[in-house]
Amino acid sequence: MNIRAIQQICYGLYIISSRKGEKFNGQIANTVFQITSEPPTVAVSINKQNLTHEFIQESRVFSISILGKEAPMPFIGNFGFKSGRELDKFKEMNFKVGITGAPIVLDNAVGYLECEVISVTDVGTHTIFIGQVKESEMLSDAEPMSYAYYREIKGGKSPKTAPTYIAPEKEQEKTVAPEKTKAAGAAKYSCIVCGYVYDPDAGDPDSGIAPGTPFEDLPDTWVCPTCSAPKSEFEKI
Ligand code: FE
Repeated sequence: MNIRAIQQICYGLYIISSRKGEKFNGQIANTVFQITSEPPTVAVSINKQNLTHEFIQESRVFSISILGKEAPMPFIGNFGFKSGRELDKFKEMNFKVGITGAPIVLDNAVGYLECEVISVTDVGTHTIFIGQVKESEMLSDAEPMSYAYYREIKGGKSPKTAPTYIAPEKEQEKTVAPEKTKAAGAAKYSCIVCGYVYDPDAGDPDSGIAPGTPFEDLPDTWVCPTCSAPKSEFEKI
């Protein structure tokens, strides 16, 4: 089996949000797709370990915020690499509560859908929630983020609970493919917490780090843009 073939499937990047009583939670997902148009129905795959899974099972509602291409990595990291069991992800977010009662993240979203669960399928580590769309709205004309753009241009990784997660040893088999040659010789560094790769050629513009900045020259206050781990949690690739 060639895992690279599976990786050719195209996705977007979304925040799936739900509620349990008065508590809100949301998480990044790439596995969202429309199933029917009459009535509009979508499916999303959520890891059973995630708090959002528990919330959707309880409330039977969820929202999908479709992220734009310009969504910054710290914003994605807040929803993708942190658990709502440890922090309130909505604390400093611009969001609203929709007609289904589900919270809807508005920051960096080009549009959103609100859904009521009509069917649930157990697929081992994950559950597929099928939802009928009860409301949908556009928020901007910006281009939606594709999962390929998130991974290749923004340097994003999948957390271990993502359906598309690949263990690092398998990932290496895949990257035997020719690498783009870089003019500057500065080394890339990888976050051992979340797998984010700091590429000196790209810098970290979201955190004010200009392209061409070697890892060694990053200020000590710099943290991983995805999971907020300090510089000491990085290793040379
Ligand atoms: Fe990280």
